[in-house]
Amino acid sequence: MELEKVLFKHFGYQTFKTGQKEVISSLLGGNHTIAMLPTGTGKSLCYQLTGYCLAGHILIISPLLSLMQDQVEQLMKFGEKRVIALNSFLDSEKRGYVLRNLTKYKYIFISPEMLRLPAIMKKLQGLDISLFVVDEAHCISQWGFDFRPEYSKLGEFRRKLGNPLTLALTATATKKVSEDIIQSLDLKEYNKIVSTIDRPNIAFYVEEVPNYHDKQSRLLELVLQLQKPGIVYFSSKKVAEQMASLLAEKGTSRTMAYHGGLDQEQRILIQQQFIHGQLDVICATSAFGMGVNKENIRFIIHYHMPMQIESYLQEIGRAGRDGEASIAVLLYSPGDEQLPLQLAEGELPSELQIDWLFSHFPQGEWPNDYFLDENQYLREQGGFSEVQWRIIQDFIKNPQGIPNLEHLKLKIKEFVNERLKVKKESIHFQKKWIKSKSCRRDLILDYFEEDAGTVEIRNCCDVCGIGLNQYHAKDTVQSHHLNEGMWKDYLAKILLNSGLSE
Ligand code: ADP
Repeated sequence: MELEKVLFKHFGYQTFKTGQKEVISSLLGGNHTIAMLPTGTGKSLCYQLTGYCLAGHILIISPLLSLMQDQVEQLMKFGEKRVIALNSFLDSEKRGYVLRNLTKYKYIFISPEMLRLPAIMKKLQGLDISLFVVDEAHCISQWGFDFRPEYSKLGEFRRKLGNPLTLALTATATKKVSEDIIQSLDLKEYNKIVSTIDRPNIAFYVEEVPNYHDKQSRLLELVLQLQKPGIVYFSSKKVAEQMASLLAEKGTSRTMAYHGGLDQEQRILIQQQFIHGQLDVICATSAFGMGVNKENIRFIIHYHMPMQIESYLQEIGRAGRDGEASIAVLLYSPGDEQLPLQLAEGELPSELQIDWLFSHFPQGEWPNDYFLDENQYLREQGGFSEVQWRIIQDFIKNPQGIPNLEHLKLKIKEFVNERLKVKKESIHFQKKWIKSKSCRRDLILDYFEEDAGTVEIRNCCDVCGIGLNQYHAKDTVQSHHLNEGMWKDYLAKILLNSGLSE
């Protein structure tokens, strides 16, 4: 079977992107496969196309509802109707219908939480599953930047389904993380297909500014100068909003903010406007980007330091998908690492919260599911965020040989400390990267245990020496009409008017 023909027939593409054909051939040869392909390289096609060459069903485990929805739509756009997402979005009536008719669906997307439900597992056990896909497979590893406790059970689910042919997909994974994936899924023999994480057409540019105030004016300056479209990433919804208004008001009128606090309709609208060229700049939090397949994004600016290098790579990887020169700018002011450190701590329950919670459990009794699911009072009084509560719930619902509550408390604390250590290490690596005097690209490749490429990159990073001028729009006000002094005055006025200069 000629794979190019299948590719053209079902997807209309003439050629494969890097890594796709290797992954598909490996699977069709009957080999479990772990594939590490950078974001935007078309990972989904690896299982989508394989599905057309195999008789049975394709089961895809995906960690995020939005991601799942996006992939369902992607397949439907290619004309595939036999697709379903089994997740909490389905009401019980629809779920009942889907489960009764499960054999009709070729591609079944499912969340790990759903796999836990015995009724659903039983239904799946009745199907001929020809491929078990773990999307975002790094979520399996405790050492991964995006560990999901729900993912740790996937090996067991895979066993229950009779160890089907497996594909683990991820964009980035260190050696430790990929070992965890293999061990957790219990893949005795497998092929590993790794494509470089390097994107040679994206230059790195780190700029240190003395303080927060200067950072604001530098951002205004950069956004006005750089060729658009572009995305500015923030760690705070509020700052994203503020800067979007400021940019829109003072020069880059086609700017909008995008974050998880907006309602679904607004989010879709902004995303579509950006994709179709009606907006030039998006001031976003990490909520923006999944499923945004826009080819010509010319810059990504990070206003805040990301929490980990993996998400940083994922975010800058949205630039330059057309292969044209693009730039990733990171603005750093002293002390910026405090924010990601605080956010990292906030994601996990503190020792104090854990002690408080355990003192409120019924005396010596293991709390049951009902107690945990329904007990809003404890969640609110203990100040637990959704993620923090989920971590606790997960331990209690999956005791895995923990004999009593005292041990359980210790285990949770141990887990929290380990996670915090991983997160802090990642933030420290980033700080080192920012402060480094050697090639930024080499450092990142080294972190992911990749050899530096042999091809010389013309526009590599600020350390290797690049000028920002070449990334400027050809028609910015500044480049044609203002000299440096005038430009500074212009910006000072903007800031004064906005009230941000105080
Ligand atoms: P990711 O690797 O980030 O998961 P996706 O699977 O979402 O990427 O694919 C990104 C885009 O690339 C999609 O629009 C997809 O249809 C497109 N794509 C995938 N394979 C090819 C190909 N061989 N040729 C052209 N476009 C492709």
